[in-house]
Amino acid sequence: MKKYFLPLVMLATAFCCCMTSQAKPEVRPRVFVNPGHGGLDSDDRPCPFYCYGMGDTVSYYESVSNWYKGNALVGILQRKGYETAISRVNNTTEDDLDLFEIMSLAANSGADLFFAIHSNATGIQRSMNAPLALYRGFTGQPAVEGNDVIAKLMMEALGSNEATQWSSTPEISGDWTFYDWGYKVGLGVLRFNKLPGMLCEGSFHDYIGERCRLENPDYCWLEAWNQSCAMDKYFDHEPKIQLGCIAGLLRSGEASPYKKDGYQLYGDDDRRGKNGYEMQLFDADKKHVATYVTDNFDNGFYLFKNLKPGIYYLNYAGSYQEVKVEANKVTYLNYQDFDLVDDFDGPPHRIKKPTKTE
Ligand SMILES: [Zn+2]
Repeated sequence: MKKYFLPLVMLATAFCCCMTSQAKPEVRPRVFVNPGHGGLDSDDRPCPFYCYGMGDTVSYYESVSNWYKGNALVGILQRKGYETAISRVNNTTEDDLDLFEIMSLAANSGADLFFAIHSNATGIQRSMNAPLALYRGFTGQPAVEGNDVIAKLMMEALGSNEATQWSSTPEISGDWTFYDWGYKVGLGVLRFNKLPGMLCEGSFHDYIGERCRLENPDYCWLEAWNQSCAMDKYFDHEPKIQLGCIAGLLRSGEASPYKKDGYQLYGDDDRRGKNGYEMQLFDADKKHVATYVTDNFDNGFYLFKNLKPGIYYLNYAGSYQEVKVEANKVTYLNYQDFDLVDDFDGPPHRIKKPTKTE
């Protein structure tokens, strides 16, 4: 036996050297994030949110939810091992950069991917809610290789969100096909862009049910998380963190106050979300892990993020439900275990801004 010892050691050494010399260098994909608009101005897509009298006005601005999503995405990508650059970290009028300036920043950042964050509006009375991916080029003929790939992966990731109410399936289009603005004109922010990339209309903010959710920074974080998962696939990137999330909607038996006001509501959005509800999360040993208090915007949205994979329990209405968390995935659980009671006919509904947590 002894005579084999040396060759085996040599073989083992050679194998180790081989492994070392061929180890893949660390690849850190670089993403340029462009949260759309900036500031609280008339061109920042304001929408009335809920207003029943003087001093009781809460407005929605697309610039705010884009800002929440953009900063959340940068944080998530960095933890996953990406390099990032972003066109704005605040939300002031000065942050609303010229489109050519955004393109220059993106080009100079050395990014591998350009990603513009927006939400959508029909601009007409009829509302809808679905994600839309726009990339430079004709549909099916991207101007830059990879545009259509990230667009498809992004729509799969965003369309998987079950803590919302979609009215239809995601749409993917080249901007030259989508906009009738002239031959190869398309979106300004993509016009001079030589990077692979896209503009992501995550959902429709002029759909009242979605606008209620977009007021919640954690709901915007969830969209950013799903965006990051699409980028992981695009870059074939193994995230440095292996964490998952639990998210969902808690709906009461009351009709949505917006139903009374004649707003169009899809599916279970016709029920009021539970405001100020304390959702409890426990680990596999039923030790308390975290509590999420839903906001006061009638959305009933809750989120537990950055969870290690494993078995957890949600305690809702006094009963424990087992939940499996998997790395790089979201486990969705919506609750509406109450029968819908009569339509809302109470006094005008008043709301107050929730305390921002991040
Ligand atoms: Zn926009």
